[in-house]
Amino acid sequence: MTMRNIPFARPWITDEEKQAVLKVLDGYTLTHGPQCKEFEQRFSEFLGQGANSVTVSSCMAALHLAYLHLDIGKGDDVIVPAQTHTATVHAVEWVGARPVFVDCDLSTGNINVESIEEAITSRTKAISVVHFLGIPCNMPEIMSIADKYNLKVVEDCAIALGARYGGKHVGLFGDVGCFSFYPVKHITTAEGGMFVTKHHDVIDIVSKLREFGVDRIYTERTIPGMYDVVMLGTNYRMSELQAAIGIQQIRKIKDILDRRQKNFNQLKRILLDLDGILIIDSNDANATSSHYCLSIVLQGALQRYRNDIVLELNRAGVGTSVYYPQPVPRMSYYKKKYGYDATRFRNAEQISDCSIALPVGPHISSEDIDYISNVLKNILRKR
Ligand SMILES: *Cc1c(COP(=O)(O)O)cnc(C)c1O
Repeated sequence: MTMRNIPFARPWITDEEKQAVLKVLDGYTLTHGPQCKEFEQRFSEFLGQGANSVTVSSCMAALHLAYLHLDIGKGDDVIVPAQTHTATVHAVEWVGARPVFVDCDLSTGNINVESIEEAITSRTKAISVVHFLGIPCNMPEIMSIADKYNLKVVEDCAIALGARYGGKHVGLFGDVGCFSFYPVKHITTAEGGMFVTKHHDVIDIVSKLREFGVDRIYTERTIPGMYDVVMLGTNYRMSELQAAIGIQQIRKIKDILDRRQKNFNQLKRILLDLDGILIIDSNDANATSSHYCLSIVLQGALQRYRNDIVLELNRAGVGTSVYYPQPVPRMSYYKKKYGYDATRFRNAEQISDCSIALPVGPHISSEDIDYISNVLKNILRKR
């Protein structure tokens, strides 16, 4: 086998993105401009009917704005997945609410739906979910629990652009969907995110929260420089340069998703023959995954060799990652604040401690997939 060098992820940047950025620079409008508006429109169009989008500086910003505008804070509990990116939970902390962690299912990594209902108390105000590795949660079930207890729902869709349940795009079931355009995600604007909601009437307040809480934005002022501040906002704006990249990226999304699906399916087909690994995926007929990566969870005797196997893969030129490196409640900050009971997060722990995320992005060819699976097979054979 000739050695290959396959990064875990690589932003797909072409001349179109470069030209778009140069054009914005030539026009001098670097913020508050038409690029953000167009990106929001195109993004909503891709998601489908009912989507309203607001560009923001990151997914973390979108998550923070979600709790701010829902008026969730001190004295409130929010149910959160233990197996997620820390941003999902940090947003709850930032508004002063208390995160209540729930374990995931081992086969999908998604929050365990029965455990959500068990965790609800009179303090619970919202449920937060993450669509793990692009696998959509069973949103109809989660929404019926939310309706039953009158709870808000915040969907972290950072790695789920293109994921649908029953044909409906994730982020449109709950009150808010939060997307990320960090470089390794499905599309990128370098840094950036999107706040999405099915409630058209909150767009105005969220836009203001995103811009210091001013009553009228720059383009709405009759006398330049004159405005009032009506609420405690912050600056979570996206720039025109980022939005210009985003417009070009969202135009490619169907192609990106097709390539990811093809790579995922090819890799999965080969790996199904291997003993001692579990492939994180969904077998729900209503679920359309957006195939963020292919994570294998090592089983039995292989489990303790996860880090060694990762290093061997990397040495052979196969880029990997771990989603996510620890259950959030086990991260030092949360462990110190709330204590950690390992028995409650067995599945999240197994995914954090025994999984390896393999690349399936649009930068990967069919030959790359063969190479990745051959390398992995050879490594596992020796164990
Ligand atoms: C990457 C990621 C985030 C953070 O996104 P940023 O745009 O970097 O703030 C949030 N949630 C999940 C699930 C992620 O994977």
